[in-house]
Amino acid sequence: MDKVDTIRFFSKRCYHGKNVINPYTGQLMYQPCGECPACLTRKASIRSMRVSLQKSLSKYAYFINPSYNQKYVPKCQIFKVHPDDPDSNLYKLVVKPRCKGDYKMVQNVYSKKYKKVIKKEVDAPLSYDDDFSYYFNASDDYIRDFREQANLNFTGKYPQFQDYYGYISRKDGQLFVKRLRKHISKFAGKYEKVHIYFVSEYGPVHFRPHFHLLLFTNSDKVAKNIKSIKEKNAAMNQMPEAGLFKKITNVIENQAER
Ligand SMILES: [Zn+2]
Repeated sequence: MDKVDTIRFFSKRCYHGKNVINPYTGQLMYQPCGECPACLTRKASIRSMRVSLQKSLSKYAYFINPSYNQKYVPKCQIFKVHPDDPDSNLYKLVVKPRCKGDYKMVQNVYSKKYKKVIKKEVDAPLSYDDDFSYYFNASDDYIRDFREQANLNFTGKYPQFQDYYGYISRKDGQLFVKRLRKHISKFAGKYEKVHIYFVSEYGPVHFRPHFHLLLFTNSDKVAKNIKSIKEKNAAMNQMPEAGLFKKITNVIENQAER
């Protein structure tokens, strides 16, 4: 983007809002729609400014990339609604809840009975109630390309996921942040104030859902233990350089462009 493009990009304005009267002051105000590209760009720049500000106020900043083990990726399926009608472009995306018991993982838990830490098989801490579907129009070519690229069996290693595609489960993300906060207070020994900025994104090639997270803290104890706080499925990198920070602001801006 050159300078002129950049100015054009940021000078877009919302033309879909409405004029409303503030009931307290009687003033006429323009209320932006919140959904058009101009509004999304505005929201994104506010967010990236807030994140930059938080970074300058915090002693430590970390960049964390939680991503799924193939087994746990939230899965959806896509069906053509009228397969016999060549003129129909209507498709349906279906998400069924995960079956409890199918997603076991081994965890270290303290046993009161044996008075020591033992390995126990537990249900993976994931969302088990995502259950929705929606209809959309797309060309057959688009769907064919999508099926080829987004297929969860693209390496050929997971034939059981042949006709399945990843989607972002908001609840999985929320549960992850909850666990992370719990771990942090456990390692710090008390409640520590941390600021978290969390985004989800689809991978550029295989549309694999994954997350990016910024963690800000002033606590030396949290910083010292950040490696031990590391959970399964979460690769953690310290973030002293501006490069990685730029990456997340790019993610925020890319989301706005969609
Ligand atoms: Zn708008």
